[in-house]
Amino acid sequence: CSNGKLFKAKKLVLAAGAWTNDLLTHLDQQLDLEIWAMHWGHYRVDPKLRQEYPQWFCFRKEDERRWDGGLYYGFPAEGKDDMIKVGIDFCPEDPEFRMRRMADYTYTPNERIVSLIDEFMRENWEGVGERVDMYSSPYTVTRDQYFVLDQLREQPEVSLFTGGCGRAFKFTPLLGKLLAEKTLGLAPSYDVSPFSAERDCVQFDKHASYRYGSGAV
Ligand SMILES: Cc1cc2nc3c(=O)[nH]c(=O)nc-3n(C[C@H](O)[C@H](O)[C@H](O)COP(=O)(O)OP(=O)(O)OC[C@H]3O[C@@H](n4cnc5c(N)ncnc54)[C@H](O)[C@@H]3O)c2cc1C
Repeated sequence: CSNGKLFKAKKLVLAAGAWTNDLLTHLDQQLDLEIWAMHWGHYRVDPKLRQEYPQWFCFRKEDERRWDGGLYYGFPAEGKDDMIKVGIDFCPEDPEFRMRRMADYTYTPNERIVSLIDEFMRENWEGVGERVDMYSSPYTVTRDQYFVLDQLREQPEVSLFTGGCGRAFKFTPLLGKLLAEKTLGLAPSYDVSPFSAERDCVQFDKHASYRYGSGAV
């Protein structure tokens, strides 16, 4: 551990999201994962309208002139502040936004993407005021957009989950159960073979020119 303590265990569960490959380096293993920079933030809203903002999605058709992918989403106002959380599900196909290692990750939001969200909010929602903050957070993406939930073939004492592809949070209880079953050698409650760490598309460096899919739901 970073505090210098050494833990010994018979089994290890690795659930390190975008940091998975950094940790797998210690086991001489790598998976073919991409890390995508995704933008989200908060906007002030008119206090008189704060109850009016629903949880919403706008999945409009992609329009190349807009360079935004067309997918925006937001949440109702929560807590005492009159503000809402908003995001864009868009990651340009560009190494500046799609990385291999968290060491290369840029947490600073991209100004052009931030302006896209500003513009979308101004155009589509009444009562939206200043932007309060904006963040860039990582999606961990596989080429087939399926998760990785498996044991390592060469080190079966290590189980792992990664490749959330921007959609794993909602499955947390189920994924935890499946990961526990995998770790304990129990029969899986559901077929997890699509999430194999052995599948071709997560083998590192085999498909250098393949374009990743896009869009989380
Ligand atoms: C902007 C955004 C919006 C999203 N929206 C949705 C959504 O609407 N619905 C949905 O289902 N999913 C959504 N997701 C995806 C979801 O958040 C991820 O799929 C999910 O968090 C993946 O969980 P995880 O445990 O694999 O990784 P993470 O949540 O990234 O957790 C990995 C953890 O490992 C820790 N870690 C790394 N290295 C070490 C180390 N050496 N020692 C100790 N700890 C370490 C990290 O600090 C981190 O806390 C969204 C993601 C983003 C970025």
